[in-house]
Amino acid sequence: MVDLTLKHHRMQLPREVIVGNGTIEQVADICRRLGFAKSALVIAGAKTFDIAGKTVKELLEDKKMEVETFLVETATIKDVKAVEERIKLLKPQIVFGVGGGTKIDVAKCSSARQEIPFISVPTTASHDGIASPLSSIKGFDAPYSVMAQAPLAIIADTNIIMQAPWRFTISGCGDVIAKLTAVEDWKLVHEEKNEYYGAYAASLALMSARLVIENAELICEKSEEGLRVLIEALISCGVSMSIAGSSRPCSGSEHMFSHALEIVRPNCSMHGEQCGVGTIMMAYLHKAEWKRVKATLEKLGAPTNARELGVEEEQVAKALAMAATIRPERYTILNKLNLDSKAYENLARTTEVI
Ligand SMILES: [Zn+2]
Repeated sequence: MVDLTLKHHRMQLPREVIVGNGTIEQVADICRRLGFAKSALVIAGAKTFDIAGKTVKELLEDKKMEVETFLVETATIKDVKAVEERIKLLKPQIVFGVGGGTKIDVAKCSSARQEIPFISVPTTASHDGIASPLSSIKGFDAPYSVMAQAPLAIIADTNIIMQAPWRFTISGCGDVIAKLTAVEDWKLVHEEKNEYYGAYAASLALMSARLVIENAELICEKSEEGLRVLIEALISCGVSMSIAGSSRPCSGSEHMFSHALEIVRPNCSMHGEQCGVGTIMMAYLHKAEWKRVKATLEKLGAPTNARELGVEEEQVAKALAMAATIRPERYTILNKLNLDSKAYENLARTTEVI
């Protein structure tokens, strides 16, 4: 008999993950294998359409597929609704998200709402959203990512991603290293509040962070080999969220700091850069290896302090205080310690963030 005391747990995983030089050439084959031979909608930005969207469109059209494109530049509710209208009108079999953050977020969210599968074609390796089931859209209630759907396939062409500015890669490293403290927070809430904890998902996220730290020098060489370590780590992080059924393995107090900083000082730096600095401070609070985190970020040329993030010193303390309350249902070390503003300032000073 089925044990009804165990809750049902749904994991939605990518079916195909293709990483390597020139993988975009396989887009039509992948579509055929997945059973899509008729129609597709490609979501891209003006730039990412030139970089990769156009190639996707042409390769699919070569195989007689009907392909429409829709360009977006931001990831707001308005963009999502506009794409949804397009999906309703065109009824494509599959939606492609071609770009860095925003384009993939919009494609993922709108396709999920219209119950159409989606394929992720990242042009940068700047964060784990390229493979995760969550999307970050401005205008919804939450300033953080919400569940949408996992990509059915991920086509990561290293030849394309290597051409992105180095800062995107550094940001991706920060987003992966952040899993060190995200997993600590997850363990904490499991121990103290008995919240669900998935050891497999946690290990996968943690292993990704360790691999990026261990391979920091290789990544710095800007070689394809180093970039592959990062891309595979980002994809593993995305998969860990699919397995967990939430962003818990990948987003803890260090992400709350990044979300708060976005409110205190919008668009000052990239998501992964902010998370990296957040990880230094949260690792200190968790009594974890914060100095190693800092040294790795320095090695990568990533920001490790307020000045490098482009924020004022007071804004760091302000963001730290806000981080504890920004997502009330997500208990982290910040809620456990419940520090005052003086203590936050001390934290930032001790870890040399200010
Ligand atoms: Zn992140």
